[in-house]
Amino acid sequence: MTVKNVLLFLVMLSCASVAHAQGKLNVVTSTQDLAAIAGEVGGDRISVESIARGYQDPHFVEAKPSFILRMQKADLLIVVGRELEIGWLPPLITQSRNSKVQPGGAGYLDASMNARILDLPTGQVTRAMGDVHPLGNPHYWLDPENGKSIAKSIAAKLSELRPNDRAVFEQRLADFTARLDAAEKRWLAQLAPYKGVKVVTYHSSYPNFAERFGLDVIGFVEPRPGIPPTPQHTLDLIGEMKRQNVKVVMVEPYFDLKTPNAIGRDTGAQVIVLPPSVGGVKEITDYFKLFDYDINLLTNALKQATGK
Ligand SMILES: [Zn+2]
Repeated sequence: MTVKNVLLFLVMLSCASVAHAQGKLNVVTSTQDLAAIAGEVGGDRISVESIARGYQDPHFVEAKPSFILRMQKADLLIVVGRELEIGWLPPLITQSRNSKVQPGGAGYLDASMNARILDLPTGQVTRAMGDVHPLGNPHYWLDPENGKSIAKSIAAKLSELRPNDRAVFEQRLADFTARLDAAEKRWLAQLAPYKGVKVVTYHSSYPNFAERFGLDVIGFVEPRPGIPPTPQHTLDLIGEMKRQNVKVVMVEPYFDLKTPNAIGRDTGAQVIVLPPSVGGVKEITDYFKLFDYDINLLTNALKQATGK
């Protein structure tokens, strides 16, 4: 090899390593909501893929071997946390043997860290009766204010992993936050006429949503989070709904409609299927469309129920 060729070879090598260093960050998220928000912040600097689909119950996802392969190649894993994924994600993380994405690793982000978490346990934490919400309610992404907190945590983590792109992530975060602020005003105005309206939901997926948009969730079709309906609980709920004149039951798309429909027939309440996640139905392709879709559906139901 001539000196000139050696130099050329070295130049090529260094170009290759620069290209590698600036390649897209490989991000894996547990849910599509997190993938949508990561995409808003990371733009073309990341490639992002979710493990669970938005139409699946995020507490119970079937762990497929292909998920391990994805996790092996990940630079960053973003999880909802609060034990939402405890039933299926930990073995995938372990089996990936990817040290970056192990809990506590540089490539592991728990998106709940700076979010407002409701239903926090007081006293000793137990999974009494199989309760799947032992560390507070994990469905916190359904408040756009938490969407902003999640985006902020993701921007900070991406900047830590790719300091050269910090300005890009910060700019995209500011843009996302501004668009979300504007959309949130619109959503609040849309639901303002129904402030304080009483509703029932199947699973406790909507406490943050209800708090933000002024709904009063007076009961659940499930006796406890993760526990299927029982005849006695259903009878009690029907009685309570009649006493409080509840006219809307919100059901996540992955639950059987048999009990909600029976409750609807008995109480005259409308049963609406409200996706709690991006990807819950095919129209919901991003974080904004999630609220657009759900708030439109809910507003139509409440309009009919209240005459407002
Ligand atoms: Zn839950």
